[in-house]
Amino acid sequence: MILEGSPVQSISFRGYDFFIKRDDFLSRDFSGNKARKFIYFFDHPSSRIKKIISYGSNQSNAMYSLSVLAKHLGLKFSYVCNHIPEYLRQNPIGNYANALKNGMDIITNPLPYEHSINLCDAHTLYVNEGGAMWTSEYGIKALAKEIDEWAGDKKIDVFLPSGTGTTAVYLQKNTRHKVYTCPCVGDSNYLRKQFYLLVKDKKHHPTILEPPRRYHFGKPRLELWEMWKELKEDTGITFDLLYDPVGWVSLMQHIKRFKNPILYVHQGGLLGNVSLLERYKYKFEKVRNDSTEIARVGS
Ligand SMILES: *Cc1c(COP(=O)(O)O)cnc(C)c1O
Repeated sequence: MILEGSPVQSISFRGYDFFIKRDDFLSRDFSGNKARKFIYFFDHPSSRIKKIISYGSNQSNAMYSLSVLAKHLGLKFSYVCNHIPEYLRQNPIGNYANALKNGMDIITNPLPYEHSINLCDAHTLYVNEGGAMWTSEYGIKALAKEIDEWAGDKKIDVFLPSGTGTTAVYLQKNTRHKVYTCPCVGDSNYLRKQFYLLVKDKKHHPTILEPPRRYHFGKPRLELWEMWKELKEDTGITFDLLYDPVGWVSLMQHIKRFKNPILYVHQGGLLGNVSLLERYKYKFEKVRNDSTEIARVGS
């Protein structure tokens, strides 16, 4: 698999101009952000490796992208999560459904991290949750190079929302521009610790913008839903529902401090929207299909 790079688009939103790095267009099969992280394994194949093992949530973008990787490399893929709702088992959608189609062997265990470690042997490629590991720098370096080449002599600031912080910290290490981010999982202290785990030198750490409030990862909230819809209506761009609304709410909160044009990195993840969109529509628009209703009544 070869990543050709992604285009940059300019938009205006709420009276401000932004550039959007469309990493959602990076690859048809591979989720944008996770494609950057896992391309290392395509480019460095090893005959020792027979299977991939990882763990995390049952709708994670990393899980889906690892299933693509395993399929392309002809490897077995086992993924451990702590719980799969009965309804999802019966009616697979989104990342979960597509990873199963790619041959993922899904295992549930109350201690997913410990269990996944126990499954490893000498022929295993073990991937940390969300791809938070040194191998991810390789692909993110390519993203940094694309951004630097695109910007040329222009001075810009880069923004992207963080989960594990892996993308933001490797991007800051490899681009000459200043990188801003915000936490979507945990708080700023968690994020700062993540930066230190991957990059010791603080001078390579991104600048953290504090979100206006503490958000629970993946929990539907009205202001996030409204931000996502407004972005879609005003820019025509479908953003991811898990990270991007928190990203935009935080970016707009601090917008006045930016002196340079802002490049926002759209990190893909749209396949993961399918399941979250159902929950959002159910919660805030009272839209539900029959199956959603049955699920509520039955669970
Ligand atoms: C994984 C992911 C992130 C978070 O990336 P980190 O490197 O873990 O901070 C953000 N957006 C999307 C769409 C993702 O899939």
